[in-house]
Amino acid sequence: MRVLVTGGAGFIGSHLCERLVLDGHDVLCLDNFFTGSKRNIAHLLGESRFELIRHDITQPILLEVDRIYNLACPASPIHYQYNPVKTIKTSVLGVIHMLGLAKRVRARILQASTSEVYGDPQVHPQTEEYWGNVNPIGLRSCYDEGKRVAETLMMDYHRQNGVDVRIIRIFNTYGPRMALNDGRVVSNFIVQALRGEDLTVYGKGEQTRSFCFVTDLVEGMTRMMECEGFAGPVNLGNPAETTILEFAERIISLTGSRSKIVFRPLPADDPQQRQPDISLAGTRLGWSPTVDVETGLMQTIDYFATLMKGAAS
Ligand code: NAD
Ligand code: UDP
Repeated sequence: MRVLVTGGAGFIGSHLCERLVLDGHDVLCLDNFFTGSKRNIAHLLGESRFELIRHDITQPILLEVDRIYNLACPASPIHYQYNPVKTIKTSVLGVIHMLGLAKRVRARILQASTSEVYGDPQVHPQTEEYWGNVNPIGLRSCYDEGKRVAETLMMDYHRQNGVDVRIIRIFNTYGPRMALNDGRVVSNFIVQALRGEDLTVYGKGEQTRSFCFVTDLVEGMTRMMECEGFAGPVNLGNPAETTILEFAERIISLTGSRSKIVFRPLPADDPQQRQPDISLAGTRLGWSPTVDVETGLMQTIDYFATLMKGAAS
């Protein structure tokens, strides 16, 4: 199949492109390189089944494809808040363009939605039936509400135009190829620990997250794309929940660092707890994560250690 991956040079997108090439597909990787990098897909550039297109999905594009994975959107709070108007345009105009393309060439389209559609959740763990608790006018809204509208557009194109859609709600995912300056907690803590700097815990660190390794996520994404007769939404994540303070202590211990923990103000609207209920993914896709957090974190620590050595030499 010919498969388009928007945001293909980003963290998750690059792992997805790699997997799709391995599975024998022709992959078109589209990216505007806002947070993505050519380094993430450099190893694929020599593959005859891989093509790279520099394009911004806020502008329309016509391509002959069978499948579209729509991942283009900055995912880290510092990056999506850098230009919030652009972020919401990427989610809303971008998905309109991708849905228009899917409709025209009769491609199946999967939208990378997020646990952020649940906002600061009052239901725990979060099931797909929960409608969420989202501030529509806060600093995170450009991302959260953009992703919520994208889900609405997916379902409306499906009902109105018969477009074959799939929606996944991704919970915090980590792994090699996260950007060094990404600002998300996994990369921040690992880089701080490796440099011997203080680990910056926001608030008291009592808030929780549940971290999923990227290869597990990619397996769930491809299963969902090829699952017949099920549009979703479906949660994809690892239910292993931890407080951010425990997570900081774990990173210090896994890296063997002498770093200390310092406390910084909690950003506005930071969700207090987050844990996916993945029963639906289990029943419909036969999917559950297989990589335990320690194994995944060691691979990620190795990645950053190598990257930082390269940058220093
Ligand atoms: P990332 O920032 O590494 O990747 C996003 C990619 O999209 C980058 O390569 C960026 O350059 C590209 N991009 C941004 N705006 C674009 C535009 N207008 N046109 C073309 N390309 C554009 O982030 P990621 O973690 O790989 O996230 C990928 C997707 O998964 C995003 O849609 C994100 O919202 C979603 N997601 C990720 C997580 C996570 O924990 N990593 C959680 C929930 C949802
Ligand atoms: N966080 C932190 N220190 C950091 C970066 C993040 O304590 O240096 C916290 C952040 O406040 C949030 C959690 O870690 O509660 C996860 O943050 P991230 O930006 O990775 O993702 P999100 O908030 O979107 O889940």
